[in-house]
Amino acid sequence: MQIGTYTYEEYVQIVKSFHGFLAPGVLIGGFMVDLALKRKPEGEFFDALSETPVCLPDAIQILTPCTVGNGWLTIMGIGRFALALYEKQGGQGIRVYLDTEKLKAWPEAYHWYLKLKTKKEQNYQRLIEEIKEAGHEMLGIQRVRVEPETLRRPKFGPVGHCPACGEAYPQAHGDRCKACQGESPYLEA
Ligand code: ZN
Repeated sequence: MQIGTYTYEEYVQIVKSFHGFLAPGVLIGGFMVDLALKRKPEGEFFDALSETPVCLPDAIQILTPCTVGNGWLTIMGIGRFALALYEKQGGQGIRVYLDTEKLKAWPEAYHWYLKLKTKKEQNYQRLIEEIKEAGHEMLGIQRVRVEPETLRRPKFGPVGHCPACGEAYPQAHGDRCKACQGESPYLEA
């Protein structure tokens, strides 16, 4: 059983070190990315889109060259457990999602996904076993097309020198940096 270029066991180890623990969502995400990689349309360069910030971005970053940092991975807050790989220029792509109808065949996974059981009631080991057993079988797939330009990370433009804090910042933000305009996340020390 392969997940991307890794064996199942290798992928599990990478998830543990990258994500901190073997999260069911990153395991399912591995099968999702694997399926998307196998079924993506013709093309050399692909960008990735995750419809949720939860778990899926890590599977994408482990298995593809698309990361948050390099800008080839866009994370949206739509909240569906789905991802897409699309061709960088034309936007032709493949979307993979968790199909709740198919998921019913794996009760522990179904209950986990729809939050029908409390964490205490869940059987983690069975959940992982079910996900492994299901592989691609709990997934749905569809062809999609996106407008790559709208998903591309905006360029910062010219850089200025903030008169208040002295640090460099994108001039498009105004006459001082956003932190000095009141958006600093830090409390007074
Ligand atoms: Zn500043």
